[in-house]
This record gives sequence, C-alpha cells and structure tokens, in this order.
Amino acid sequence: MKTASKADLYRQLPSVDELLRSDFAAVLIEREGRTAVTTAARAVLERLREEITAGTLDGPRLATALEHIGTAVENQLRRDLGFSLRRVINATGVILHTNLGRAPLGEAAIDHLRDIATGYSNLEFDIEAGARGKRDVHVQKLLANLFADAAEFPVSTVVVNNNAAAVLLALNSLAEGGEVIVSRGELVEIGGSFRIPDVMSKSGAVLREVGTTNRTRVGDYERAINERTRLLLRVHRSNFEIVGFTEQPSLEELVALGRRHNIPVMEDLGSGALIDLNQVGISGEPNVFDSLRAGVDVVTYSGDKLLGGPQAGLLSGRPELIARIRSNPLFRALRVDKLTYSVLESVLLAYVKNDYESIPALRMMRAQAAEIEARAKAMCATIARRGVRCEVVETRSVIGGGAAPGSTLPSFAVSVELDGKSPDDLAAALRLNEPPIIARVEDDRVLLDLRTVSPEDEAAIVAALVGVATQ
Ligand SMILES: *Cc1c(COP(=O)(O)O)cnc(C)c1O
Repeated sequence: MKTASKADLYRQLPSVDELLRSDFAAVLIEREGRTAVTTAARAVLERLREEITAGTLDGPRLATALEHIGTAVENQLRRDLGFSLRRVINATGVILHTNLGRAPLGEAAIDHLRDIATGYSNLEFDIEAGARGKRDVHVQKLLANLFADAAEFPVSTVVVNNNAAAVLLALNSLAEGGEVIVSRGELVEIGGSFRIPDVMSKSGAVLREVGTTNRTRVGDYERAINERTRLLLRVHRSNFEIVGFTEQPSLEELVALGRRHNIPVMEDLGSGALIDLNQVGISGEPNVFDSLRAGVDVVTYSGDKLLGGPQAGLLSGRPELIARIRSNPLFRALRVDKLTYSVLESVLLAYVKNDYESIPALRMMRAQAAEIEARAKAMCATIARRGVRCEVVETRSVIGGGAAPGSTLPSFAVSVELDGKSPDDLAAALRLNEPPIIARVEDDRVLLDLRTVSPEDEAAIVAALVGVATQ
C-alpha cells in the first residue's frame, strides 16, 4: 500500500470554515461565542499542519486526529478561556509568599468588597453634607483610633498603591532637591527592583550615606546634617540581619537628634505589623505602634504583609507632614481605588475590634504547632489508607513578605514519597492539579506544611496525592 504524501495529508485537513459548520462547532459557538471558537479551531488546524510538516502525523494517525477534532477544539477553548490568575493551594509554609499573592483575605473583607464593587458607593461623597468628600476618610478614623495612645500627635494616614509607592511619594514630598541621611547598613534591596538608592534618586532627593555597613552611630548622622538636610531616614532591614560587631542608634536617639535640628524622621518599616508579634513567638520585629511611640514623624508600611490586608502602601504620621504628602500631585497618580479601600477598611475594623482570627495571615501565624500536627496526622492517616507512603515531620514555617527574616514558627508537615517519582516530579505533578498545589522540596522529600493550608483545602490535597499515586 502506498503511503500518503505530505501533500495528500494537508489536503485531508478541513478548512476553518468547514470546521465551524460542523455540529460540534455549533454547540461550542452557542456556548463560548464565534470569535473564541474560530481562534481555537485555527490553533488546532495549525498544530496538525505542523505535525504533518514534522513528519509525526501519518495517514492513520491523521484519520484518528480528525475523528477527535471536536474534542481537540474543545480542549483548546478550555485553555484559551481559562483564567490566567488562578487560586492555588499554598503548602510551602511561607505565610506572606510574595509570588503567591501575599496575604489571603477573610470572608468579611470580601463581603464588603462585593457590596462596594457591585454598586455605587460614597467613595468621595459626604453623605451627611450631600457634597464632595475625600476617599481618605474611610480608613483615616480607624487608624487614628488604633494609634490614639501611641503617638504624641493625632496620627494622620494616607493610602497609596504599595509601600514602594509610599516611600517614593514621601521622599519626593518631603525631600525633593534636598538631602536625606541614611545609614550604610540600611541601603537595602527588598526584591524586585526596590533599592533604596534608586528610589531615592527617582524621588529627586539626594542620598547622604553615613556610617558603615555594620556600625552607624548617632554622631554619624549629626555630622552629616547641613542646611540642605530634609529628612533622617531609617529603613527596616526586612530580608536580612546584620549580626556580630554591630551598632545602630535607637529610634529614640534618631528622633531626639531630628528634634534638636528641626528635621523630621521617617521610617520605612516595610512589613507594618499592627499587633505585638511577641504574642505569636516572634521577637525583635518592630510594629507601627513602636515607631510612632518612639516619635517617628512618618512611617511607611505595606497593606499586604504583616497587616494581612490588600496590596497597599500606608503613610501614617504627623498631620502637617501627611498633608504635604497628600497635596503632592504624585499622590493622585499613586492613590488606590474603592476595591482596596473596602478591603482595607474591613481589615482595619477587625484590628479595632481585636478580632485577629478573622484576618487569615494572623490566624495562620497564631495557629499552635500541636493543632497543625493533629491535622497533619489526620491527613497522613487518610492518605496512607489509600496507599500513599506518608509521614508527619517537624518543620519551620516562615513569615515571609520581608518580615522577621531570622524567625520561624514551629510547624508540622506531611511528607510524601512515591515509588518511581522523584521529589521534583511529584512536586511538579501537584502543581498540575486543579487547583495547583505548591509544595516544598526539602532534603529530598516533598513537604506539605499545613500552617498555610486552610482546612477546607485538605480534601483537595488528599485527592490530588491519591490521584498522582494511582496514575
Ligand atoms: C516590602 C518592603 C518594601 C516594598 O513594599 P511593597 O508593598 O512590596 O511595595 C519597601 N520597604 C521595605 C523595608 C519593605 O520591607
């Protein structure tokens, strides 16, 4: 029998129009629209053509492919029309994982978000006066209440897109054309492209470095002060620690120096905790109250790190400085929308009510190791009954999000092994699950740290593991 030439094979391919006239296409067009089905049909035909060209598709194979072309178009459509941004299960044990979207949000915050997002709101409308209002008010009062006893001044706050924007805006508003004094030990890179010297230069302020990498004294700052000095800046070393022969002035000393020379002190706190982290066993991590109590004039911090809210950057401090920041035209470019305000307001309300359990990131941080161990044991038992080798191991969870680089929380993980599958292969297979499960590979094992897994997701993990094992 003569084998079909490539030209014969190309001729057997239907045209896009022919495909679109077939019965299966009518159903798909009805459901997903003509444009999407046309795009998918074109992609499937193109793939077949490439396979013919490459010589991987002979006559019999092409016949089979054409028989199942409806399914191929449907699968292509599913890929084309699926969301790119997807929910994943975070089993890494890193609570504020920047690659996985940092802080998850609680039900109350999402209820308020839905309510505000689906209709009109008083975003910039004073309902009592029936006149234009300011969007700042929606979080201003809550934060002023939270900080009431911390600072010696009534604390004002404005909100921008993220903490990087907050730092840029504050430096530009308070120090453009002047000098900002920073310790050489605090010229940090946070990740991405946030580097203090670069942000400083974009803000139009001149960086005046003092001290050394490991030791900076208050006298170093004092000697650098001159008539062009606009700000003393403290930057939290969010993602590293300097240990050994080190020295750094206390915030109180910096504030006293600033007061003597009438120069404001700003602190880029990064991960702005609004609780005392000692209660979750993390020591040495400053919070926003500490900064304000020490007399810092402007503090900048993220909304989606230790605060546990939406992506945002908050600037809290002395009313006259915050007013200057608020009146900078850059503020208009960096401000946040009603969606962010609605979520932030809801999360801040939880702080005002001491309702920390409703903030998922805090709930995960506060979870007791024994409680996580019990969940891991139960999951392991279920998986083992279904034939997957599994063990509960002690591990450490990480806060992440540029907070407490040196401290971890005791936790327990489910450790899984499969015959014939390397840990990397198993982790990759779990990522193909729907929803994808992101695990940690450590010491040649796949670990699922349950601290960052919500109990509702446990069944999905069990099903995925059993599925991978029986493949
Ligand atoms: C995380 C961090 C930033 C950047 O904050 P984003 O909210 O990610 O923009 C800036 N400074 C410090 C000290 C940080 O820890």
